[in-house]
Amino acid sequence: MLKRLVGSPLWLLYLFIFIGTLLMGMFLLHYEWEQLQSEKYHELKNKNIYEKEIAKITLKNKGGVLYGISRQLLAIDPIQNPQAALAIMEALVANDPEIGGFGLASPEGQLLLVGGVPATRKLPHLFEITKDHALFEKALKSDTFVVGNTFYMPLLGKWVMPIRSAVRNAQGEVLFVIITGIDIAQYQKRHELDSLNLNFTHYYISDTAQIIYKFPTHGKTAQETYVTLDEHILNAVDLSTLTGDTFQMFRIQNDLGQEVLAVLSYLPKFDIYIATSYPVRELRYELLTYGLQNLLLFALFLVALFLAFRLYARKENESKRQLEYRANHDILTGLPNRYSLQRFANQLIQEKQAPQLYLLFMDLDNFKQINDTYGHSFGDELLLQISKRFEHLHTPSSMIARQGGDEFIIVTTLTSVDIDSYCNTILELLQEPFVIDKNMLTVQCSIGVAHYPHDAKEIDALLRYADLALYKAKQNRGRIAFYTPQLDALQQRKHLIESNLRHALAKNELTMLYQPQIESATGRLVGVEALMRWNHSQLGAISPMEFIPIAEESDLILSLGAFALSQACMQIESLWSASNTHFELSVNLSVKQLLAPQFLEQLDALRAQHPQASGRLVLEITESLLIEDLHGALRRLQALRSRNIGIALDDFGTGYSSLSMLHQLPITQLKIDKSFIKTLSTERSDANLVATIITLSKNLAIKTVAEGVEEASHVEKLQAFGCDILQGYYYAKPMSIEALQSYLQKLHL
Ligand code: C2E
Ligand code: CA
Ligand code: CA
Repeated sequence: MLKRLVGSPLWLLYLFIFIGTLLMGMFLLHYEWEQLQSEKYHELKNKNIYEKEIAKITLKNKGGVLYGISRQLLAIDPIQNPQAALAIMEALVANDPEIGGFGLASPEGQLLLVGGVPATRKLPHLFEITKDHALFEKALKSDTFVVGNTFYMPLLGKWVMPIRSAVRNAQGEVLFVIITGIDIAQYQKRHELDSLNLNFTHYYISDTAQIIYKFPTHGKTAQETYVTLDEHILNAVDLSTLTGDTFQMFRIQNDLGQEVLAVLSYLPKFDIYIATSYPVRELRYELLTYGLQNLLLFALFLVALFLAFRLYARKENESKRQLEYRANHDILTGLPNRYSLQRFANQLIQEKQAPQLYLLFMDLDNFKQINDTYGHSFGDELLLQISKRFEHLHTPSSMIARQGGDEFIIVTTLTSVDIDSYCNTILELLQEPFVIDKNMLTVQCSIGVAHYPHDAKEIDALLRYADLALYKAKQNRGRIAFYTPQLDALQQRKHLIESNLRHALAKNELTMLYQPQIESATGRLVGVEALMRWNHSQLGAISPMEFIPIAEESDLILSLGAFALSQACMQIESLWSASNTHFELSVNLSVKQLLAPQFLEQLDALRAQHPQASGRLVLEITESLLIEDLHGALRRLQALRSRNIGIALDDFGTGYSSLSMLHQLPITQLKIDKSFIKTLSTERSDANLVATIITLSKNLAIKTVAEGVEEASHVEKLQAFGCDILQGYYYAKPMSIEALQSYLQKLHL
């Protein structure tokens, strides 16, 4: 997890936000805490002011009553007339329920009279029931009222807060002390408002540190409530600066040991302190609820952010995976691509220490034709089905990849013992027909093989070599070829020829030779085949078998072919005129030439130039090449026929066309390939085939031409089969136009 966090910038960002949020949360909590405290102090202060007001009014009011009583008592001698004194006092306090009791005491503290208690009854000394000597002394000296400590008055059964006032004679001597006791229980009724929130506590504290009043009492008994404050509480408070108009705020431990916020004020007239407090614990609860809310919000925010980040991270991972997939796979078939295969091969060699491996380059033979005929989506579907058949070639020690187009590459650690059967398995995999859109078709492939480490140690070189071997295999069709160093030499030779061929025309290195064609029945010359020759200044004579296929790979064949046609027409036309003969002129035509857009136009221009050629010109088209685009070729062939130009199907028997399709083609001649003629007298099956071809052609009114006739036995056989025309070294080799001229002259002699 941590690795993930630190490893990816996205998660690092999340970590930053997380920590940032946490810090911000802590800061906000702290800020809120300060805020809460200051608000609470403010509230405490307001409550304190209010409480102080209540205390002031009450004490003033009770003091006023006390003053009234003392005036009247001075008039009668209350010691001598206790009944009358009691009556006066009772009359004045009768309507005030807050006054819990009243009485008279001697300056020494002995109670003389207590309201509601018969005058004859013996009364206790004040100091037996309350210990505030100091405050009593203070009252003796003071001109005004002095609030004393709250105490329990057993005679009345009540807790009272005493207000005392000394009554003096004219000489200023204290005669007695008059006392009013505020009934604590009654006084508490003034706190109706405060009972709404019992967390606020009010204290009245005497200057002797006694709690003389407290609300609420938090369930404590009066004995527990009206106590003297601990010294440590007092030590924490500095009273010296406190005046009637100021406040002191502090955090302190209260009488119950709780931590509270408190506001303290002073009531000078009665020399008491009024404190209002609020438990810190409660404040913490408030902070907690606020904090929890925010915590929840923060948590929600972080979770939402986390989910968003995760979604984004997943999306990114997904697209990364897809990119990776695309980088390593062929999108159409899902097979690994060349790059993956190279890596796999390198792994086999470097990591798995494979001592040897084979690299196979595979290519479909007629894919271009299929693509052109059925369309690209059809071709794609075919590639897909082929890849499916190849799928099981994937093993831990072998991989098949699509290189692009109809090319596949295979790498395998199989040894030389198994590689042949492996290649054959691949060929067999394609043998079963494919069915696409209800069309059934078969495909064939060629395979080029290179070996590591025998042929090369670098994968790149191996790939190149396997490709070279494939080229060789292609020439043989549907076959397998292994790389040999000669192939490399051949390749170099091919490049050499290709680059030189471009200049051959301009340098006048090309010439035409003519080979006679003899009518078998009469021995007369009925035609010549024009054959091209290339004599290079340095490379010497190069066979058309070598340079024509190279020219056919590029557009070079178009200019070479055009040259052959015009040169042959020109040279032979003069012979026709000179010899007054009407033999035919056969010129070889590449399918590429036939299908070129401008071909018919060029042909018409040629016919216009050489009017005699029409009716005597035969174009030879190689059977196997014609088949590749039969559809396009057929229309062109018809256009030729409509111009009265003969068509010869060359090299018949080497390609795929069957005898049955002969009647579809508008041909005038059929040239039986020289390979059949060569074995005519040795192979019985070949002889039968040649006989069949000749018979069939006769039925279709197609003339048969046998080429490569070298021996008298060939002539004999072919004559017996009824072959129309014979061509070969037996009669003459291809010769120059001059040689042909003298050849003709000899014939006429
Ligand atoms: P092709 O059209 O089959 O031409 C016949 C080839 O057989 C010629 O080879 C010829 O010299 C050879 N030949 C003739 N009689 C005999 C014989 O008795 N025995 C043997 N073994 N061979 C014989 P060449 O001239 O080397 O031409 C090779 C091929 O090059 C031609 O085969 C043709 O496909 C191609 N080619 C030649 N000239 C042209 C051209 O002007 N245009 C095109 N497109 N192709 C040409
Ligand atoms: Ca030919
Ligand atoms: Ca031929």
